[in-house]
Amino acid sequence: MGAVQALFAPHPIDITSGYRCPELNARVGGVDTSQHTLGLAADWVCPEAGTPWRLAQTVAQSGIEFDQLILEFNRWVHISAAPQDRPARREILSIFSSAEGYLSGLHKRE
Ligand SMILES: [Zn+2]
Repeated sequence: MGAVQALFAPHPIDITSGYRCPELNARVGGVDTSQHTLGLAADWVCPEAGTPWRLAQTVAQSGIEFDQLILEFNRWVHISAAPQDRPARREILSIFSSAEGYLSGLHKRE
């Protein structure tokens, strides 16, 4: 998260969800392999710097290394680092509803 914090400084990053134990992850509907359970992912917002869509766009266009960057429900941004044993994928996704599922790339929806 250090690189993200630096990108939006001096505006504070609010981490809405960091590490989740497997039980909590299941309760909030997280997928089994969620990187939250590995301590590799964080959901965050930075209201002073812009909407979640704008924040995700800024990170995507930066040189920051990440495994996945996901605009989630237009409410927060999920970012994860790759585990030690494989390179970062730099995968960018959006999700607006569980029914629709993950979409490739960042989508702007009001
Ligand atoms: Zn997340």
